Amino acid sequence: MPDTTTLTGEAFSRTNFESLLKRRFFFTESFEVYRQAGGFKGDNRGLYDYGPPGCALQTNIVDQWRKHFIIEESMMEVDCTVLTPEPVLKTSGHVDKFADWMCKDPVKGEYLRADHLVEGVLETRLTKHRHTLPAETISEYEEILAKIDNFDGDELGELIQRLDIRNPNGNGEVLPPVPFNLMFKSSIGPSTASPVYLRPETAQGQFLNFRKLLDFGQGSMPFASASVGKSYRNEISPRSGLLRVREFLMAEIEHFVDPAAGKRHERFSEVAHIELPFLDKDTQLSGKTHVTTKTIGEAVASKMVDNETLGYFLARVYLFLLKIGVDKNKLRFRQHLANEMAHYACDCWDAELLTSYGWVECVGCADRSAYDLTVHAKETGAPLVVKEALPEPRKVTKWHATLDKKKIGPQFKKDGKKVQDAVEVLKQDSLEALAAELAKKAVVTVPTAKLEDGATSVQLSKDVLAIDQVTVTETTREYTPNVIEPSFGIGRILYSLLEHVYYYRPQDVARGVLALPIAVAPTKVLIVTLSSGQQFIPAAKKISARLRALGIANNIDSTTASIGKRYARNDELGTPLGITVDFDTLKDGSVTLRERDSMAQVRASEDDIIQAVRNLVEGLESWEQVSSRLPAFEGQSQVA
Ligand code: AMP
Repeated sequence: MPDTTTLTGEAFSRTNFESLLKRRFFFTESFEVYRQAGGFKGDNRGLYDYGPPGCALQTNIVDQWRKHFIIEESMMEVDCTVLTPEPVLKTSGHVDKFADWMCKDPVKGEYLRADHLVEGVLETRLTKHRHTLPAETISEYEEILAKIDNFDGDELGELIQRLDIRNPNGNGEVLPPVPFNLMFKSSIGPSTASPVYLRPETAQGQFLNFRKLLDFGQGSMPFASASVGKSYRNEISPRSGLLRVREFLMAEIEHFVDPAAGKRHERFSEVAHIELPFLDKDTQLSGKTHVTTKTIGEAVASKMVDNETLGYFLARVYLFLLKIGVDKNKLRFRQHLANEMAHYACDCWDAELLTSYGWVECVGCADRSAYDLTVHAKETGAPLVVKEALPEPRKVTKWHATLDKKKIGPQFKKDGKKVQDAVEVLKQDSLEALAAELAKKAVVTVPTAKLEDGATSVQLSKDVLAIDQVTVTETTREYTPNVIEPSFGIGRILYSLLEHVYYYRPQDVARGVLALPIAVAPTKVLIVTLSSGQQFIPAAKKISARLRALGIANNIDSTTASIGKRYARNDELGTPLGITVDFDTLKDGSVTLRERDSMAQVRASEDDIIQAVRNLVEGLESWEQVSSRLPAFEGQSQVA
């Protein structure tokens, strides 16, 4: 376990932390009663349900995400289906390439993710036997670990053999790595003729709605779409609680940008001064893992980060993570190594958060270039391109294809439209090559979308297809936008954030505190009555109703436990504010307001306190400001 400490610098105990999350029902393994009854066969791991505080926290994180990205950047949100027909994911490359390397332990019948197996075994050897290992072995292991994501199946197989890496569970030898596709397959309707997959990312739905979004935004470029929804990955071996699951909430942005303009970003100057901790690919390839802090302006200028738009989003991701309470000392941006990059990406940086499980990729920021729009346009013939008016008309000589439409209909019948589309999307270099072929041969072959008989090309003869050079005056330019994609795993962020904000008070080690920022805390205010006496209830209920009317989540606790205990119970839920109703409330209408982390209190009229709570929740005032303008209160016991 990495050496992590709590917010207040104490040793982090995962046992106590997890006990808090379980006790207070942040989340739980799904179908627990069946698991406990032993009613499950096989592997049903990696599935989780969220309880009330987990749900509220997740909703509040997504709400902050919407404000920080969708509203602030005027993004266009879409909500697309999870069930995705096979042809879409075949075209996107996921059917063939969305896979991890897997090894089987034939004796135990266990499946292990090959890179995790190597990583786990080498880490254990380093921790347990560092003092007996030769120096060169230590540095070899460290170098392998620094670039573990860069190895392909053969290389992992070679490491497993050479370093005698075995299944830690039983020490059995494992078979060589084979690829395992991570998508869940099903079919739509009673027949098996329509295979589908549960989407592994929300991105494809956004790409396929590209033309509609472009039109919705009146053709203006650049623009971004966004989507929040569940995605599914059939992970080989889910582990580390919420960090590697098979169903998870994703929030993804697809920012479409003109590549000819160097992927510049209009608002880059607003973030250029922000310093980020980088772990670039050269450092990793040299076997090191130290971060270098520099401004995003410098990182883009030196080309370490490929372009302004990617850089802009790295900085905006950083600001978002800090806003929801992530510890900036446990955050780094790690660049992907060449082999690790997804099949569609050309540069990629992950925002990683340090947890007791190590560094965890929580946000992937990839430059997907024009990959997705190009492959879908090619497959379907749909013009997934931008047509832009030129500042001045220009004369160009270019190849032009003419189809004899009168002949196309009778000859190709139902396929006629697909043949026309296929010819329309031919690029200049293809037209030039086909023109040369037509000069020599009677027929040429043109690739098409899938035709009625399953073919993916047609033969066109000279009497239906003519290709000539023409000089035209162009008033528009056509291009396929490139895509920069920040992709957030909300569950991973939520879990890592909880570790970051967790601490405990020396006098109450077993019961923790979650220092969640007010904006994401599940409940904003706890209202407590001085004792369980009925006389305080009406005042408490009135305050609760007034806060609810303002949309401020609150709870009343009028149980018999001491006030300190009741506050401590809610510190565990991350409730940042507490209002106490006491005898003076009944006399003069005043109440106290307590802040979770300092445990300091102020006292004022109900109106003033409600206004202060509202300001705190809306981020208009800080606790320091509130406590310096309202009278301090030294009263009831603070700690159980
Ligand atoms: P990727 O498309 O692989 O870059 O993933 C995008 C984001 O989804 C990652 O940064 C994670 O936050 C999240 N993610 C990916 N796989 C999982 C998983 N198995 N469990 C939880 N979150 C995941």
